[in-house]
Formats: sequence, structure tokens, C-alpha cells
Amino acid sequence: MEVLEERIKKDGIVKPGNVLKVDSFLNHQMDPFLFKEMGKEWKARFHGTNISKILTIEASGIGIACVAALCFGLPVVFAKKSIDVPLDDSVYTTKVDSFTKNKCFDVSVSKKYLKEGDKVLIIDDFLANGCAVYGLKDLIEQAGAELVGVGIVIEKGFQEGGKKIREDGIRLESLAIIDSMDPDTGEIKFRH
Ligand code: 5GP
Repeated sequence: MEVLEERIKKDGIVKPGNVLKVDSFLNHQMDPFLFKEMGKEWKARFHGTNISKILTIEASGIGIACVAALCFGLPVVFAKKSIDVPLDDSVYTTKVDSFTKNKCFDVSVSKKYLKEGDKVLIIDDFLANGCAVYGLKDLIEQAGAELVGVGIVIEKGFQEGGKKIREDGIRLESLAIIDSMDPDTGEIKFRH
């Protein structure tokens, strides 16, 4: 998606450790006009598929998924990274390793909002090793719902997640795929 690639080139800051900072439009300040274009792009790419719900993970996925959900005309649910997961059986829970924070979170979603029969599109900001996507997939499976596909804003193509997801036969639509990024020069190369 050209407008997104241009924005990443203009505002993205490449940090050591394979981390890209895009705080000016995605992860801190948010550009809802760009989010709307992204939502329309996913809507076009997933045209013809049967989706009943969008699922994301807090925190940065929420704004993106919410605007995308407006484009799809669907509800959106976010999985909570909570330290106090209820001990009763009212939620589905799984564990996710955080790429940027280097720790493992319990992630949960209420059984009220993810159910058998739901056809789910996962939306998230970044794809690195795929832990967040596979955590969400686990919650979908626990609920007996169906994973229809995954929409990602920025896939770091030089990390494992994208390859794994595609090899598992899961439909993955990344709006920008980065092939390489250099923290010394700041250069970012995209895959087309
Ligand atoms: P994964 O679970 O695929 O290893 O990593 C994806 C998650 O880690 C995303 O939800 C995102 O929040 C965070 N993440 C991974 N890589 C980056 C990055 O380069 N920049 C930012 N801002 N977040 C990242």
C-alpha cells in the first residue's frame, strides 16, 4: 500500500534490535485518516469472505481494528493483556511473548464476545515472530470459532511470523512488508 510505505519512509525510525518506531502515526499519535485507508484496503482484499467479527490485541491494535471494523460494518473485540485474569471460567486465556517488551503476557477474551460460529479476522499493527497472531488464533480455537484471515499493518518480512502463518495456510494480508531495515542509515526496503 503505497501511501503507507511513503509514511513509513517519512516518519519511521529504525531502532537497533529489529524494532521500527512509528509513534507519530500508529503507536502513540494515531492518524485516523490513514487508518481509514487501511480499513478500506483490507475490506477490498477480503472481499467475498465471510467475516462476522474482528479480533485484535491491546493496546496498539485497538485503534486500527476499530476503524477497520467501521469499514467492514462489524463489531471488534480486543484481547486483554491483563495481570489479573479472572480465576473463574468466564474467559479464554492464552500466553503471548511480547516482542518489544521481552516478556510473556496472559491474554484473555470473555467467552461472551468470542463464540462458536464466529468467523474472525485478526487485525494487528506489527507482525514479527507471530506470537501475538498465534495467541489470538489459540483464543479463537478455544472458542470453537473460525479464523478467516489476518490483516497486518507492517510485516517485518525478515522475521519468522509471516512465513509461518502462510505455511500454515492462513490467509495473511500485510499492507506493508519490510524486507530490510538498517538502524545505522535508517534505510527501509519494502517487498513488492
Ligand atoms: P510478534 O508477536 O509477531 O512477535 O510481534 C508482534 C507484536 O509485537 C505486535 O503486536 C507489536 O505490538 C509488537 N511489535 C513487534 N515488532 C515491532 C516493531 O518493530 N515496532 C513496534 N512498534 N511494535 C512491534
